[in-house]
Amino acid sequence: MKGSLHVYNSLSGSKEEFQSLTAGHVGMYVCGPTVYSNVHLGNCRTFISFDLIYRYLKFLGYKVRYVRNITDAGHLENDEDAGEDRIAKKARLEEIEPMEVVQRYTVDFHQTLAKFNTYPPSIEPTATGHIVEQIELVKAILEEGLAYEKNGSVYFDVIKFNERERYGKLSGRKIEDLIHNTRTLDGQSDKRNPQDFALWKKAEPQHIMRWPSPWGDGFPGWHLECTAMSTKYLGEQFDIHGGGMDLKFPHHECEIAQAEAVNKKAPVRYWLHANMLTLNGKKMAKSTGNNILPDELFSGKNTLFSKAFSPAVVRFFLLQAHYRSIVDISENALEASEKGYHRLMDALRLLEDLAPSTPAENFDQDAWLDCCYTAMNDDFNSPILIAQLFEAAKQIQAAHAGQQTLSKEQINTLSEGMRGFIFDVLGLFVEEQASAAHETPALDTAMQVLIDLRNEARQQKNFALADKIRDQLAAGGIQIQDGKEGTSYLLNT
Ligand SMILES: [Zn+2]
Repeated sequence: MKGSLHVYNSLSGSKEEFQSLTAGHVGMYVCGPTVYSNVHLGNCRTFISFDLIYRYLKFLGYKVRYVRNITDAGHLENDEDAGEDRIAKKARLEEIEPMEVVQRYTVDFHQTLAKFNTYPPSIEPTATGHIVEQIELVKAILEEGLAYEKNGSVYFDVIKFNERERYGKLSGRKIEDLIHNTRTLDGQSDKRNPQDFALWKKAEPQHIMRWPSPWGDGFPGWHLECTAMSTKYLGEQFDIHGGGMDLKFPHHECEIAQAEAVNKKAPVRYWLHANMLTLNGKKMAKSTGNNILPDELFSGKNTLFSKAFSPAVVRFFLLQAHYRSIVDISENALEASEKGYHRLMDALRLLEDLAPSTPAENFDQDAWLDCCYTAMNDDFNSPILIAQLFEAAKQIQAAHAGQQTLSKEQINTLSEGMRGFIFDVLGLFVEEQASAAHETPALDTAMQVLIDLRNEARQQKNFALADKIRDQLAAGGIQIQDGKEGTSYLLNT
């Protein structure tokens, strides 16, 4: 019995039974990164959260079309339609082409998410690849009378839209409060009202990233691309739209307004938002130094933690919290997750060697499996699922220690259930490095023998043999390092 899936819909503020628009199919859109810097750990958490959701939907048998965009134009420094384009600014500072910035950080994004074992999306469209669709969308909104052109820029008329459809459905903000709380225009702006947002911005002469349009050379507003691309690939209405909590307003609110202006119906059934990651109890920010890149965490080359943590351990750590809760990353928490991760992997290994016997009477394997589904069916509650997996690990350990026996049926259900939920749903994986480090004593002994032999060879001036030992180890992924403190070794990741 798999039960039915319930998801927390930010639009209604409650958990709802998930029913896809087309039976057996799910259309899911997640806002991707703006590729102007290395992806930080907080962003990774958002994408790992939606990877969990994508994986579970697939695990339940849905055919999922997962669209996640790359923002490579149009995202200004200041979210209120002011400031420099983030990518253009980076290009200017580094004296390279904007598309070099885009390429560099798109590659970094893909490589980092691959280390975390996230599935690539089904379609990964870019803003610059969909300028035509975005211009068409602006035209359609203008035709509806819900946008206006001023000096080569086009703005969405929030007040007018609000007269037709309510603006603020998702964030719960009221137009009166927005009017009251936003700064008044300084006379420099082309906007009629401060709440209005740019659909198309005129490019100033020095602006590199520009495209011709009916309103002159310019570039799309940031909110526009997600509406244009989600409609193109998922239709006017689709099942799930996700993103970080910080995108709820204004970005997602604006997406709803743009789509409703043209299609006159709600674009999305279920809005899902992932919460943020804090570091040592404080918000992560580059400016304060309370920040860490995934690679710095994996290599141990950072000033915040005394040791390295592998991608599988970090992924496991992130999934030990529910995606809608704030997670705080600290050395203690990571160490606890590292132990937990190994406990699960050890249990899987022990399970392979268990001989079937009489059934354990205090363990109901079918009820256990139901609990795993129930946890995930309750708005993808991965911490509860992990608690169930630890319960299974406890049963396996007890059987291994001879304190109880497990029947063939119990072993089979545990094996299938654990593998399915650990590898397919949680996306955990067996790490070469993690397992080697786990078996450090034996490997250390073997390596010390080889290092001693190489040192003896060098003392005897048998450099050919010394180099052979070094080179063959290097070919196998083990680097020999000669230092002041003596010779050590390092496993390549
Ligand atoms: Zn978006």
